[in-house]
Amino acid sequence: MTRRRVAIIGAGMAGASLAAELAPHDDVVLLEAEAQPGYHATGRSAAFWSETYGGPLVQPLTTASGPLLHAPPADFAERSFLRTRGELLLARDPAVLDALAQDFANSGVPIERRDPHGVVPGLRGLWHGLWSPGCADIDVGALHAAYLAKARRGGVKLRCDARLTGTRRTGDGWELDTAAGAIISDIVVNAAGAWADEVAALFGAVPLGIRPYRRTVVQVRVDPPASPDLPLVIDAAGGFYFKPEPGGRLWLSPHDETPDRPHDVAPEEIDVALAIDRFEAAVDWRVEAVERRWAGLRSFAPDRLPVYGFDRDIPGFFWCAGQGGFGIQTAPAAAQLCAALLGRGNVPQGVDPAAYSPHRLSE
Ligand SMILES: Cc1cc2nc3c(=O)[nH]c(=O)nc-3n(C[C@H](O)[C@H](O)[C@H](O)COP(=O)(O)OP(=O)(O)OC[C@H]3O[C@@H](n4cnc5c(N)ncnc54)[C@H](O)[C@@H]3O)c2cc1C
Repeated sequence: MTRRRVAIIGAGMAGASLAAELAPHDDVVLLEAEAQPGYHATGRSAAFWSETYGGPLVQPLTTASGPLLHAPPADFAERSFLRTRGELLLARDPAVLDALAQDFANSGVPIERRDPHGVVPGLRGLWHGLWSPGCADIDVGALHAAYLAKARRGGVKLRCDARLTGTRRTGDGWELDTAAGAIISDIVVNAAGAWADEVAALFGAVPLGIRPYRRTVVQVRVDPPASPDLPLVIDAAGGFYFKPEPGGRLWLSPHDETPDRPHDVAPEEIDVALAIDRFEAAVDWRVEAVERRWAGLRSFAPDRLPVYGFDRDIPGFFWCAGQGGFGIQTAPAAAQLCAALLGRGNVPQGVDPAAYSPHRLSE
């Protein structure tokens, strides 16, 4: 097969994983605007792998990513990227959990009703629970580093401080103006996260309405100290989630989803206060100290599904965007899918490419 020149815009999890997949087949350059890769959404996640998170249409990508994350090949990583924790979805109204369980009825995802009061001590009032045992913590830094290392071994050139600023169509390819100089490529992949629509506009593509939303996480010290055996606990109504961290700490989020713009986003005090307020209303523990706080942008297409495929109108322009709140846990399958759509390898088992096609948004 002829090797093509592929430029991938963005070296977060999406761009890095796809670069690693394409490396054996194509001459790939990975362009990153920042001084180091992973500075934006990828470096700010809550680091879990949950087959229920993102809904039933995201689940096939999460499930198909499971085997590589659980047991990576020895030439990719020495140990698993996952550490099983389990997930407990909470609701005051049991009908909410029945509807959620129904969504995953034929998916093969193990999920069952469970009394949450036996799992999370100190819950205030009556809660109902849905238990998903497979949920795990992901070592996001290790996964991103493993993809970048695999890409580098395959000859991919990573260019940091190389923001894309302009483009020209030249013959069958593209000439790209970047802060690090000009790049010639046959195919361009838009893996620019929150900037995906802005990057698309540089190619004259019609934006798909991919919008960034701010999400806040705080690391707190609590009394009593959190047991390391706690699962990921998610309020099914979208009020909060938390999971334990070493030293009796918790990572806690108010599950905020504030429309924002692409930039280096910072947490707002109001969201930190909201997180603590909702947490202390749900359990009878006290937040003693906020030790860290951060915010990141989760970018969604209007139907909240990712966008993988060639643009309908712009030649050689491929979308790899809209990974919302599930871009880490779906990365292995998404990268494999995108490589297949770029003509390299096969679509992962159980994944329907049509569900993620950009064409669905421009019909
Ligand atoms: C608080 C929070 C919690 C989350 N928790 C989870 C979780 O538990 N599990 C999970 O699976 N997902 C989670 N996510 C979602 C996940 O982090 C994202 O889906 C994922 O990181 C998206 O990766 P990306 O590579 O598309 O985006 P990014 O990591 O944002 O990378 C895009 C890159 O493109 C670069 N770029 C932009 N414009 C240009 C340009 N013009 N030229 C060159 N480079 C450019 C940017 O600098 C950036 O580095 C969470 C996200 C947040 C914010």
